[in-house]
Amino acid sequence: MALRHSGACRVCGVELPAKTTAVYDFTAKNVLCLACRDSVVPAPQQATPSAPVEGTQRQQDRRVGDRRRSADATESSRGGSVLERDS
Ligand SMILES: [Zn+2]
Repeated sequence: MALRHSGACRVCGVELPAKTTAVYDFTAKNVLCLACRDSVVPAPQQATPSAPVEGTQRQQDRRVGDRRRSADATESSRGGSVLERDS
């Protein structure tokens, strides 16, 4: 739609003179240039499900846990061999 008033794109800050074809966000009361409209609009749909982020975080935790577990195993096997030698 053509802007009734000039403004600046809220994302990239480009000047949008009156009658420039751009998107006016009535709820946020600011404007988006068409380039940013195209890149910004799909974002809320992707951001709604938080599962991918949680999954990544869980995988990282699991990797840290594996590293700790293997370190514990190394410690205990070393301790066991020391005990065997002592006895
Ligand atoms: Zn923009």
